[in-house]
Amino acid sequence: MNIPKSHPRYLSLQTREKLVNGFVNNLVAKEGLLAHGRGEAFDYLIGEKTTKSAKNAIKAAAYMLNQAQNSVISVNGNFAALCPKEIIQLAKTTNSKIEVNLFYSSEKRKKAISKILKKSGAKQVLGMDKKQSAKLKGIDSARRIVDKNGIFSADVVLVPLEDGDRTIALKKAKKKVITFDLNPLSRTAQTADVTIVDNVTRSMKLLVSESKKSGRKVTFDNKKNLKSSILEIRKNLERRAKNA
Ligand code: ATP
Repeated sequence: MNIPKSHPRYLSLQTREKLVNGFVNNLVAKEGLLAHGRGEAFDYLIGEKTTKSAKNAIKAAAYMLNQAQNSVISVNGNFAALCPKEIIQLAKTTNSKIEVNLFYSSEKRKKAISKILKKSGAKQVLGMDKKQSAKLKGIDSARRIVDKNGIFSADVVLVPLEDGDRTIALKKAKKKVITFDLNPLSRTAQTADVTIVDNVTRSMKLLVSESKKSGRKVTFDNKKNLKSSILEIRKNLERRAKNA
């Protein structure tokens, strides 16, 4: 790479490499590469940095996870390929369970994801034992199969890099939903209770540090915060257009 390490694009290119390696190592589905491409485009518009609105959402997410009775971090291939260590750190600091839940499910991929999570320090990974499975209403794909002791009985679920059907189904099941989604207009972003509009590779670290603080109650309005995210994109584009 001919880009200096300090340049935000450096992290983007590193991230792309992680995804491609994840694909080669069976963690990431080919559709996951396309979803990442969509994310990259929005990251470019955001300016490849963590915005003020994302920082607000991170505070709200940390508070929600720390207050939860039974929180679960849902892991798909992209998330596992991008930040396995941070997933384990977040589970520890917020006392959350970890569950593998895939859109394009296959036993081989589930096992590869569970393996990398365990290698990164996870003691228990839910979603692997068919005897413990339950069905969430309102989803057609394999993602409706969830763990009885995990997502099925959770009060708060962190579902990063997701599609809208799943977030809608989780909301119907009366769960509080936290997501990372670079597109502030996606159905997931618009349906979740807390949407962190940022690249998960930047925000997971920040969420881990925020969740270590004792944290005062946070007043947070997701719709309002999403509007701020959209305005931040607009301002970034106007600034770039002026200098073009
Ligand atoms: P929806 O059904 O919610 O409208 P979609 O069909 O656009 O969403 P998918 O392609 O299923 O969504 O999911 C990918 C989402 O994850 C996209 O919105 C994309 O912007 C986001 N995304 C991809 N990579 C990252 C990343 N590294 N960090 C945060 N968000 C990401």
